[in-house]
Amino acid sequence: MLAPLLQSSIYRNLKYRPLISLSQNQIPSISTMRHLTADLIYPIATPPLPKGIITIDDEGTILAVSPAGTYASEDLAYYRGILCPGFVNAHCHLELSHLQDQIPPYTGLANFLRPISALRMQFSTATIDQAMVAAEAQMLRNGIVAVGDISNDATSFEQKRQGNLRYHTFIEIVVPFGDTLEERISQKMQLGIDLLAQAPRNNGNTTSLAPHAPYTMPPAILQAIDEINAPNAWVSSIHHQECNAENEMFQTATGDFVDLYHSLGIRIEQFFSPISANSSQYILRQWQNPAQLPRLLLVHNTISTDADIRALQQTQRPITWVFCPNANRYIENRLPHFDTFRRLGVHIAIGTDSLTSNWQLCILSELKTIADYAPHIPIAELLQWATLNGAQALGYERDLGSFEVGKKPGIVHIGGINPDSPQITAHSTVRRIV
Ligand SMILES: [Zn+2]
Repeated sequence: MLAPLLQSSIYRNLKYRPLISLSQNQIPSISTMRHLTADLIYPIATPPLPKGIITIDDEGTILAVSPAGTYASEDLAYYRGILCPGFVNAHCHLELSHLQDQIPPYTGLANFLRPISALRMQFSTATIDQAMVAAEAQMLRNGIVAVGDISNDATSFEQKRQGNLRYHTFIEIVVPFGDTLEERISQKMQLGIDLLAQAPRNNGNTTSLAPHAPYTMPPAILQAIDEINAPNAWVSSIHHQECNAENEMFQTATGDFVDLYHSLGIRIEQFFSPISANSSQYILRQWQNPAQLPRLLLVHNTISTDADIRALQQTQRPITWVFCPNANRYIENRLPHFDTFRRLGVHIAIGTDSLTSNWQLCILSELKTIADYAPHIPIAELLQWATLNGAQALGYERDLGSFEVGKKPGIVHIGGINPDSPQITAHSTVRRIV
């Protein structure tokens, strides 16, 4: 009975061999198992496979990762270039998408931040919603499958519930130094807890609390946030060492951030004393029992030094160092010292930041900027930052980030690559194929 069935037109068209033998009265399930190949497959969790083969079911779940030659060439869908897992955008602000082109590039961080609060209020709900829809569609087109996204309010929650992308929503707690601190901390924490309850949790979405940055994080805030995140093992995130002014504020209470406080009418000298150490040290001094604290994403790290990185790594708190190189170019026009982080063997992931401070939401574009600045970094390492490390940073590595049997990571095709000497260049292209 089986032989005639296998010769039937259904099986000839499906072009695959059943994995199990069937008894006479079993009806085979007609699933569209597919074999995809490319000049180079980057499974990420295992070494690259020249002309390797990814076998998926019709849901996109990985059934096998095989070396070249495992299947007949007529059974394969071939892509010129690279196939890698879907990208993870470890840092974004979907709710700021409507502010694209509202703040010019290269102003420096303090000047960038100054107009944002007022600007956010000047747009209709419809405009804000349309911008988020378009921004999300752009991420999907560019091969992004999951996002670590900062939210100051519930604006983006409905879009995230649609289930087009998987989101970890970091509810951001911003508390400037100043008067009536205790009262404001308690208000902001309550608001954050209310938002936690509303944040999307369908479709594998997750959420937690996150401080904004050291310069808007009076001492009690980090501990209050960790007290909520830690018992749940929830990941947190903070903008970190994005510019020299941040360090200057903590070292000597001078510089652009102190001026920013003054321009907001806050005499920060009355509420804040410098610590003769930089913002990295300031964060460290807030931690009690760091080894028991959940993962923290340190975002930007543009000016972090060898000593800063070592000091934070020594605490045994799990840290992911997130780079958003195009946002660094947009705002400060400088880039982190990638090799310092690489030499110290730290865990690195990639983010885009928001459309307010970037030209696009595209992880490949971030990798292009890194590859242009530091062409000696191997492409396999860049792709790991962009996929598995981001998935691990957000706690999504069980499903996303690598080609491993049982995962459903999405499949991205990177074209414009010379397979004999693979490197991401300005000519490289990206599209999601699964
Ligand atoms: Zn950001």
